[in-house]
Amino acid sequence: MNMTRFTTLLIIFVVVLGSDISFSEPVKYLFGKQLVATDRPAQPYGSYARGCADGLVKLPETGATWQTMRLSRNRNWGHPNLVKTLTNLSKKAKEYGWNGLYFGDISQPRGGPMLSGHRSHQLGLDADIWLMPKLKFNYTIEEREKVLPQSMSKMNGAMVNNQWSKTHHKIIRAISKDDNVARIFIFPGAKVKMCRDEKGNRDWLRKVRPWWGHIYHFHVRINCPEGAEGCRSQFPPPSGDGCLEAEDWVKKIFNPPPLKRSRPKVQPRAEILLSDLPKACSEILTID
Ligand SMILES: [Zn+2]
Repeated sequence: MNMTRFTTLLIIFVVVLGSDISFSEPVKYLFGKQLVATDRPAQPYGSYARGCADGLVKLPETGATWQTMRLSRNRNWGHPNLVKTLTNLSKKAKEYGWNGLYFGDISQPRGGPMLSGHRSHQLGLDADIWLMPKLKFNYTIEEREKVLPQSMSKMNGAMVNNQWSKTHHKIIRAISKDDNVARIFIFPGAKVKMCRDEKGNRDWLRKVRPWWGHIYHFHVRINCPEGAEGCRSQFPPPSGDGCLEAEDWVKKIFNPPPLKRSRPKVQPRAEILLSDLPKACSEILTID
């Protein structure tokens, strides 16, 4: 072990010993226990799938144009830039004819790995938005725990079903055009549908990335905030609208190539330890 790594581990060890944090627990348990954000300026540290954040703000349970779902999870914390992006989008959704939007998971109060689901969502810069069109808008807090999201997928994600509407297209186009937004993830059939339906400028389709799952919600990822030096951005999406690639994916759903699984083999995830995260994340866990 070189000296720098040794020193880093020593610092983490001392910080952890100085608090009541157990060093042996996978770090998801430590972040999962946090009930509130740190009272410091908003700052993400690390990458979308390996990091944490200072100063996240809570997306309110209810707004005039949104409702936050599954509140018991306490995952409605995001960087102020993301919260603003989401609330603005919900206003647009209303203009487009829906009552508003249902928001799913953002991040835990101090970000970090979660006890269940989500590889990313660790910086307060990722959010899930339900694809459920306007049906009933005003759910009670209890209902929001139980109501099932609606899928937009037909044929294993190769196509959209009859719940898909022009409003979905408009909402996703609007969020994709936001300069803050880095990527949007949605199932391949939805990307292909939007590629075929778009008759105007197609640049926004570049950020819409087909991905596994994402049939009940789409996922919005925003860029690292300006000046956030500890935040590691992702490489930009490949150039072009990505429509041919999405068509290819759909073809493979209909005709899986022989001897190849249509999904990559799922490897058990290695547990993330405190020492795998940026040093700032150890400190974040010790702040009252
Ligand atoms: Zn997500």
